[in-house]
Parts: sequence; C-alpha cells; structure tokens
Amino acid sequence: FDEIANFDPEIAQAMTDEINRQDHNIELIASENIVSKAVMAAMGSPLTNKYAEGYPGKRYYGGCEYVDVVEDLARERAKKLFGCEYVNVQPHSGAQANMAVFFAILQPGDTFMGMNLAHGGHLTHGSPVNMSGKYFNVVPYGVNDDGFIDYDEVLRIAKECKPKMIVAGASAYARAIDFKRFREIADEVGAVLMVDMAHIAGLVAAGLHESPIPYAHVTTTTTHKTLRGPRGGMILSSNEVNEKYNFNKAVFPGIQGGPLMHVIAGKAVCLKEALTDEYKEYQKQVVKNAACLAQALTERGFKIVSGGTDNHLMLVDLQNLDLTGKEVEKLLDSVHITANKNTVPNDPKSPFVTSGIRLGTPAITTRGAKEDDMIVIADAIKAAVIDKDNDKAMALVKSITDKYPLYA
Ligand code: PLP
Repeated sequence: FDEIANFDPEIAQAMTDEINRQDHNIELIASENIVSKAVMAAMGSPLTNKYAEGYPGKRYYGGCEYVDVVEDLARERAKKLFGCEYVNVQPHSGAQANMAVFFAILQPGDTFMGMNLAHGGHLTHGSPVNMSGKYFNVVPYGVNDDGFIDYDEVLRIAKECKPKMIVAGASAYARAIDFKRFREIADEVGAVLMVDMAHIAGLVAAGLHESPIPYAHVTTTTTHKTLRGPRGGMILSSNEVNEKYNFNKAVFPGIQGGPLMHVIAGKAVCLKEALTDEYKEYQKQVVKNAACLAQALTERGFKIVSGGTDNHLMLVDLQNLDLTGKEVEKLLDSVHITANKNTVPNDPKSPFVTSGIRLGTPAITTRGAKEDDMIVIADAIKAAVIDKDNDKAMALVKSITDKYPLYA
C-alpha cells in the first residue's frame, strides 16, 4: 500500500476511503462478500504479469509451467467441491461465463428461455439491453403472485416456444430452485438446461442448496458472491456435454484472450477454503442469518416477497410503506447500511426507481455476525426507514461494525 501512496496519492486516498467505507458500513448487497487475505494476496501477486493464452499443457506462450500448476489446482478443486468432471476457470466474470455457454450451445437467432429480469433474473439471461437479448430470441418466464417460480407455467411456455435452451438461476430470488423439475421440463421439450448458480454457489458448495450439477447439462457461476472468492466466473459440466459443445474453445479463443492468472490463483485459494469445515459453518450461518433477518423485518412491518427466504437473500416489497427502492437505498446509505434497490414481481415502477430493496447476509456474516446481530440490523433498518430516527439507526450500525471490524 505504501508504494501506491508514494507514487499515486490520489488513488491511495480513494482506496483508503473505500476501505474505511467497507469497515464502517453494514454491507447487505446480496451479491457481495469479503474475501480472505489469502485470496486477496493471490490477486495482488506477480501472476498478473503472465500471458497464458490456451489451457494447461497447451499454451500459446512460453514460461507457463507454474501458472499451469495454478490453473490445474483450481480446476481440480472445483471438480472436487462441486462433484463434476469438467471445469473451466478462465471466464473473467459471470457474464463472460454465460456468454461463452450461449455461443457454445446456441446460434444467433435461436430461442432460449430465461427468468425475467423484473422477476429476479439476471441481465445476461435475456434482457434486451444485453448481448443475450440482442443475439437470441428470448422468451422469459417469471414468478407467480406469491413470488415463487411457477414450474407448470414454465412447462407451458416451453411447450409453446420450443426453446433450444432453458436458463435456470437468478439474482433476486429468495427461494430454493427445483433443478430436477427444470431438467424434466427441458427434457420434455428437448432443450438444453443451463443453470447459472452464481448467487447460491457457496450454499451449493456447502450442501445447503440442492446442487444443479446432477441435473443441468451445463452450470455457470461467479466466484465472488456467496462462494467468497475473487471476481470471476467458471463453467462446469460433465465430460460428455463438454465434448459436444467444447466450452474451452468458446471461452478462448471464442470470447476472451489471455486468462487472468492472478485471479485464477485467487479462485484456487477460495476453492481450497470452500473445502474446509469452517467454510461449511460459515455458509450455514449465512442462511440462518438471512432467515432471522427476514423474520425480524417482518415483525417490524416490512413485507418480504414470498414471505421469507430459503437462501442468503430476501426481497423487501416497500409498496405497503409507500416508499420506493430508490428512496430506501438512499435512506439506508445515510445511516451506513449498503443495499440495492430492486424491482419486485409486477413492479409498477421503473428499474431506476423500483418498489423493492434486496438484502443479503454473505458479507456481514463473513465479518462474524450471528442471529442476535440480525435483530440489531432489523432495528437499525426500521429506525432509518420507518421511524426516520437516523441517530438511533447509526448508533445501532456502529455497534455492529465496531463489534466486527473488517479484516480483524
Ligand atoms: N449471473 C447471475 C445470476 C448474477 O447475479 C450475476 C451478477 O450479479 C452474474 C451472472 C454476472 O456476474 P458478473 O457481474 O461477474 O459478470
């Protein structure tokens, strides 16, 4: 850090401010986490200097013998953790992993089904502003009025549009996803099932959410959400499916150039952490904390979409409080709670305003918070959003952030 401060004080200052913000705020953005110092050290290492286009043993550059060890270890650990035969650890992000799979399986103009962004899906699952929505014919599915995926409706739509691929997985869905049912639907219409487990990968790794691996033809993930690794993506499948679609080729040279070997080292370290008992305990606490926070918020007058959560996140519908997601995001920010506005199913407001807020427990649980702390956080949220008592909210927030310092 001193090197940055000496050469580039402006960047050093912004970095210091950001680290302090992370330390002084309760992070409830469901897609964020706090990596270990070991993961961070891997990312800030000289491995960033290395060009390694290609794959271990078959590179387009010399001097790859040690980065080959890193990539092999990352792949082997991911296979062991998720119980699959094939892994590609090179995607620079979740979006890249998804794009590679789309280009491997679909031709431009082909039809696929993905969860509606407004119902909890991700941009890369067919939003018109994303590559997935521009290159392919997208038929969305969503949730019912209670906030649950309606599998009969998914089947009905699939029979009607005959998609080449169905994408299961979401960014703002608090309920367990029935991957077996998705596969049955895909089989019934002759579609490929792709699961994007980005949000729940850590829970899947710890056995707290049903694994998509036995059901999906191909699974993608990010490595930086519940999984708690560096920012990046992965693709997982069986050897048989990979032989058919060649995901390696779709990633490189299909959509990427040189892999980020420092990030792949970070992925390897994260995957080693994920194989420990301590990690499983952490994931259990993430889920317990989310359930506790959802319950505590309900008791304080907040409406949770679908009535609760099975995973690490929840969607709060603010319409009964006559508040927008944009307003609440700002109110929470002002008392040092970070969250993001989110559309709720059938939201009358635009994605820039929204009627909801998404909350998640991965990051605050990494800092050490337990169920009793969730009650304090729910009190702080109520103080800020309903009672408009900022002093009280900030005192409650400080009690938590002081108790669990960042990188203690
Ligand atoms: N897939 C899902 C389900 C996500 O929630 C996200 C990110 O929020 C992504 C993919 C994209 O990941 P990235 O931001 O790394 O491109």
